[in-house]
Amino acid sequence: MNSSNQDTFFAAVGDVHGHFYAMLGLLQAWEFKTGLSLSFVLQVGDCEPHRHEEDVATMESPARYRKVGDFPDFWRDRARFPQPFWFIGGNHEPHGFLEQMPSGGQVARNCHYLGRVGKTTLAGLKVVGLSGIYRPEQFRGLRPPLSQIHSRSPKAYIGFNEAEVAIALEYQTADILLLHDWPSGIFQPDNPEELRGYENVGNEYARLVTEALQPKLLLCGHMHRRYRTRMSWSSGRATEVCCLAHIRQGQDAIAIFRLAPNGLLEEQPVE
Ligand SMILES: [Zn+2]
Repeated sequence: MNSSNQDTFFAAVGDVHGHFYAMLGLLQAWEFKTGLSLSFVLQVGDCEPHRHEEDVATMESPARYRKVGDFPDFWRDRARFPQPFWFIGGNHEPHGFLEQMPSGGQVARNCHYLGRVGKTTLAGLKVVGLSGIYRPEQFRGLRPPLSQIHSRSPKAYIGFNEAEVAIALEYQTADILLLHDWPSGIFQPDNPEELRGYENVGNEYARLVTEALQPKLLLCGHMHRRYRTRMSWSSGRATEVCCLAHIRQGQDAIAIFRLAPNGLLEEQPVE
């Protein structure tokens, strides 16, 4: 690896689904193997930071997946995120908890929700995130208020809407964009057989936001599948697209990036 001690290393993580210890194990294994430290971690939704059973009840999910998971240990400060951890929401989240802070906030020590749509700066990089998935029936309206969380289906809270997309567009630029679902049209596997079942992957609004912000790096999850591609723009810029697997799939769920002092951003081998 051609790196200097001025370099910053950070990680991106796919759908965690409450398995925070498994995630930290994968990241710590990389740090141990390389002797390098990660400065921060970005996560692409379906994080599932449930504090307790009541939070789980506000998640859209089949009954068999409704588990509290590891988060209570972090929320109660019995366990720590070793580096700042930033996440967006997916379509499986404790809306009764996260909708209390639609603009984002700290949910445990070193653990930050970016909000339904939000931005932050990390190591000089502008990071923008848009939570949720595209659902045509929710796109034109407003999400129901938090007060209706127990009378509405949790499904009513999983979609992003037009107003949130508009805010993301107003950010104008990003170095890194976090989306849960993939932009439409990016999945072009070498073997066309692999397209089966993936014909309708992604959504046009994810593509729209990516094209508007033209980030150096787009991170997404949702499909529980590792995939890399590049989107090239008429401006001459290009976006490296990094789709991450479910944390239970092991190393395919994480990606490591090196940021050089000159701004160069490069994915590093995980193995
Ligand atoms: Zn997921």
